[in-house]
This record gives sequence, C-alpha cells and structure tokens, in this order.
Amino acid sequence: VNRRVPALLFLLLVIASPVFGSATATIDGKSTVRVAAYDRDGVIYVELGPVVAALGFNSSWNESSQKLLLRTDEHVLVVTPRSRYAIVDGRLRRMVGAPVFLGSRLCVPMAFVTGPLAEHVHKPIVFSEPDLATPPPPPALPHTPLYLKKIVLDSGHGGHDPGAKSPEGHKEKDINLAVAARLARRLTHEMGIEVVMTRSDDRFITLSERARIANTSDADLFLSIHANGAYNDVATGTETYFLSFDASDIQAARLAKAENDSFTMAEEGPFGVGGGDDLKQILWDMVRTETLKESEKLASAVQSKLEMELHMPSRGVKQAPFYVLMGSSIPAILVEVGFMTTSKEAAKLASPPVQEKIADALFSALLHYDTFMATQAGGAMRP
Ligand SMILES: [Zn+2]
Repeated sequence: VNRRVPALLFLLLVIASPVFGSATATIDGKSTVRVAAYDRDGVIYVELGPVVAALGFNSSWNESSQKLLLRTDEHVLVVTPRSRYAIVDGRLRRMVGAPVFLGSRLCVPMAFVTGPLAEHVHKPIVFSEPDLATPPPPPALPHTPLYLKKIVLDSGHGGHDPGAKSPEGHKEKDINLAVAARLARRLTHEMGIEVVMTRSDDRFITLSERARIANTSDADLFLSIHANGAYNDVATGTETYFLSFDASDIQAARLAKAENDSFTMAEEGPFGVGGGDDLKQILWDMVRTETLKESEKLASAVQSKLEMELHMPSRGVKQAPFYVLMGSSIPAILVEVGFMTTSKEAAKLASPPVQEKIADALFSALLHYDTFMATQAGGAMRP
C-alpha cells in the first residue's frame, strides 16, 4: 500500500469540499426566489424546494421508498436522493449529478432545473450567477444531528399478525405504526435524519426481513416499537429492552416468547436456517459486544424520557432474547409503549395525542443519544 495515499485522500477531500452560496431563480420572467447554491466538483447545485414551491408543486417525502414526490394538477416529479434519475411526468430524465441533502434542503444540479424541469412545466427558469462567497441561510432544522445520520424504525407486527389486542379490539400493530410514523416525521423534519421504516403500512414482515433491513440500510441504530400484552387486565406502564441471551426476569422471558411468535409465522427461519438453538447461536454470534453497550445506553435514554414525559409507570430497562434484536448488527432496542391488554391503557395508546407524546419522548431520547455518541470519551465524531 502506498504511504502517500492518506495525504492524497486528504487533498482530494479538501478539493471536493463544496463551496456554499446562494442564487436567485426567476421563474417565467415573473416570480423570483432565493435558493441555496453550491459547487460540487464543478457542478452547480441548487436547492429544489423554493423553486418547485413557486411552480405550485406540493411535495411529500415517502419514507419507505426514500423518494420526494412533487405534484401539481398537471405534473408529477419524483426525485430520489443519490440517484441521477428523476421521473418527470412519467419520463426518466438523467441529471449530471445525483441530488443530495444540504441539511434538510434537497439540492439538484442547476442544469436539471433550467432544463428538463423547465421544459415540462413550460416555464423558463433562469438563475442568477450563483454567489458562492455568500454562505447559504442557516439550515431550517431546529436540531442538527451530531452523530446520527440514518435510523431504522421498526413497527412491530402487521398484516395477519395483529400483535397484542385490547378487549375493545384495538390492535397493537396499528399503535406501533402510528407511533413510528409520528416519530419518523419529527426525525426527518426537525433533525434531517434519514428514516427507514421496516413497514409503512399494514403488512406482514418477517422478523428476518426486519433484521435484514437493519443490517443492509447502513443505519446507525434500530428501534423496534411495540405495545405490551399481559395475562391480566391491569398491567400498566412502559419498558425498554436491549438484547440478552437470557431474559432478565420471568415476565421478560414471556414477553420475548410472545413477540418471537411472529418468527414462527414466517415460512422459513432467518438466513434459511430452521428455528431452535442453532439459529439462536448463529444470531447471537452476529451480535457484537460494543453494540450491546450502545444499545444499553440507548435503552436507558429511551426509558428515562418515557418516564419523564408520559404519565405512565416505568417498568424500567430490561433484557430478553428477542429475535428481531438478535439479527441486528447495529445498536438495537425494543420499546413497549404500554399495555394493550389493559382497556384504559389501550384506549390511551390509540389516541393520537398520546401517540404524539410517545413519539416526543422517543424523539428527545434519540436527541440525547445523538449528543452522547458525539461527545463520549473515545467516541469518534462522524467525518
Ligand atoms: Zn409486539
């Protein structure tokens, strides 16, 4: 290996660092909007949001497909971060560079806006010479993540697997998804964190598929959201789990068994292996001790925020052998946000304001964990 490589890499990084600035877009010779602009390896990128808003597009971010969908009555535009291909009115259009996020602002090559986009909307779009010496307006995000870039949110159960049910018929799978969706929105819009949902609608996903998503999405952590079930109708409170080969108590063991039942609903085991002890051993071997430490830290952050922000008893941080956590090679926790089997509690969990409160608590726990990971002794900051 050439010893000069690190120095060369450093030089390349310096050269490749974007120069930020701003530009003004004039649309159809009339309206003018100011956008962030920057030079990335000689390609001028501009912020897409203000331009498409001025053109009357409504935008929505699809979490599961990681695409930005923009619509007017006549036009549909689909933009995928990190893909050079956009779909404009059903036609594939190639850009000179892939769209990228600058904080929460999605930026695309200027040539795409003045070319294919302008053509499709039949309105000329003209940019001023970008002023690259002026820094762009500060990011609109209230929180800038220090460490976290991408998170996998896992809504437990789904499809033919309802999870725990309340006497009144509320289903755990719906509560899990509602909380995950609320949390995803906050993470995306307030922190600019990329969120991957293992499911974004009511469908069955095997536990091995959930673990596969955790391990292949290049995410920083895996958060599985569940609501609890008990054999009595008075159990109450929240609890947060990280992985252990052995359950910390008898209730934890029972719960892991119940949650792992989704596993037996799958036709085959994860990684094409049958169930039982061999599988457990294979999964356990995949777990690295350092992610366990991070998982424990994350679990205590989550449990303490739930304790502070919800008017519900705290059942603490526990450990149990959940398959969905075992398969994950990134820090992973499972949170039980309350009991479905207790009528009063299930009714609370089904109410949107309570779901928002739970999402709030999880959001602040992730903020706390983000700061911890960025500042802990020996913890390296992300490049
Ligand atoms: Zn569950």
